[in-house]
Amino acid sequence: MSTRAPATLPNALSWAARAACQGQDLTLFFSDADAKIRAAKKICAACPVRTACLDEALRAETTSTGAGIFGGLTSDERTELVLARATEQAAVQGQAPPKPRTGRRPAPCGTRSAYQRHVKKGEPIDDACRAANTAADRRLRTSGSTRPCR
Ligand code: SF4
Ligand SMILES: [Zn+2]
Repeated sequence: MSTRAPATLPNALSWAARAACQGQDLTLFFSDADAKIRAAKKICAACPVRTACLDEALRAETTSTGAGIFGGLTSDERTELVLARATEQAAVQGQAPPKPRTGRRPAPCGTRSAYQRHVKKGEPIDDACRAANTAADRRLRTSGSTRPCR
């Protein structure tokens, strides 16, 4: 019996199943500690689906960059990458470079980003944020992503 996944698996599952972060300590990917960030990036660097993961994160983050390391990049690094790509594209098209997104609105309560903001700032954590974080953890464990739709 072959253990290989059928070629017709939905795209979403076909790469998430090969994520190197599966079974790893997920707190590495959602930490502000340098040592943890380095450890997460090391896992991503050796991940066979890094490009797909990064592309998916960028696709999902059309309006604001979510928390966590995806495709080897922190959310700040993904924001920079998006701006760099847009600048490059504008140059190719002979347009003025785009302005960096400023005044990003903080994520509303009931999201993992808001939960992480509470943790970072030492704020009390409300039920909606706690639930969102727990749900995201569960999704990450089962799909390799915190995003609901893959
Ligand atoms: S976060 Fe993405 S690139 Fe990093 S190990 Fe997981 S699937 Fe691979
Ligand atoms: Zn909250």
